[in-house]
Amino acid sequence: MAKFKVPKEIFHGLGSLENLKGLTGKKAVIVIGGSSVKANGSLERTENYLKEAGISTVVFSGVEPDPSIETVLKGAEFFTQEQPDVIVGLGGCSSIDAAKAMWIYYEYPDSKLEELAAPFAVKPMRNKAYFVAIPSTSGTGTEVTGLSVITDREKGTKYPIVSHELTPDVAIIDGDLCASMPKHVTANTGLDVLSHGVEAYVSNIADRYNDALAKGAIDLVFKTLPTVIEEPNNLEARQAMHDASCMAGMAFTNVWLGIVHSMSHQIGGTFGIPHGCGNAILMPNVIRFNSKVTNKYSELAALSGRTSAEEFAQEVSKLRASVGVVGSIKEYGVSQEEWDAKLDVLTQNAMDDPCTLFNPRKPKFEEIKAIFQACYEGRAITL
Ligand SMILES: [Zn+2]
Repeated sequence: MAKFKVPKEIFHGLGSLENLKGLTGKKAVIVIGGSSVKANGSLERTENYLKEAGISTVVFSGVEPDPSIETVLKGAEFFTQEQPDVIVGLGGCSSIDAAKAMWIYYEYPDSKLEELAAPFAVKPMRNKAYFVAIPSTSGTGTEVTGLSVITDREKGTKYPIVSHELTPDVAIIDGDLCASMPKHVTANTGLDVLSHGVEAYVSNIADRYNDALAKGAIDLVFKTLPTVIEEPNNLEARQAMHDASCMAGMAFTNVWLGIVHSMSHQIGGTFGIPHGCGNAILMPNVIRFNSKVTNKYSELAALSGRTSAEEFAQEVSKLRASVGVVGSIKEYGVSQEEWDAKLDVLTQNAMDDPCTLFNPRKPKFEEIKAIFQACYEGRAITL
């Protein structure tokens, strides 16, 4: 038995932002990051469409990348003052993640971050407001997931809050909003989408529903990521990548991810390697490692006319290189000394990461370490 949870309404396609006109409510707080949604006009369009729906708007701005608990509390205070019945997260993943956490504190002001990070800790939401997510990057799929990652900078810890209660009520997937994404962000976030599709597809709780979405997303990434890199103003291709991000998000919020993410979380946190870049470096060797227990990679290889897991691993490397992303941790600029000093801690933390529980092959400490080492050097493993 399994449950498949997605937002109640997903509007998608170029121009789909217009569907805001059909929402109901009295007052919306729009949560944004920096100036990009102002500069590209999407904030103004959002405000205007909401006004057409009879919903007044106020804006909370200044959400930083890797949003902090301080920002979340500041936002929740603003919500309490403004009393919105609609919350809109607009922009990159950080704005939407922060808005989700602000929403929790608005509904339950006595919440504690450490407690929220425990499984199933989020109480029933929607007593005060419902949630609309409008992403302007194609990557994390946060617009359809029950996930929000908040950082406590004092403790140096990232807290993932996981609950289907946090799955947005409405998601708007409008590729128009992504046209101004810089090239390196497009490449890294696009490879993150690929890793969501691949990890969801081989998850040890995968099912047919999520397989279809994951495979569809992977196919779209292979077909369109190189195009959006070469032609950033190709809106049809932007929309396809935005759809892929959403589809992969729907799959992984239901069947989770594997050790590509467990390991990437560590090299991201320790060396600042961008998430999608880290995933792309790790993925080929994780495919080789996992392929000893699953033949599902061969099905993915078939998408590009290949047959084996090894060929699929090579296709992933080829795509990564074609969009200008480095192929090893060393190449990213991590020195041998730093690497040797941290390797055991990184390995242990990857073993303890919740994503490891959903990997198709249960890894041993020495195996994760060997994958890390091979990915540091940029060579293929046999395990
Ligand atoms: Zn990811």
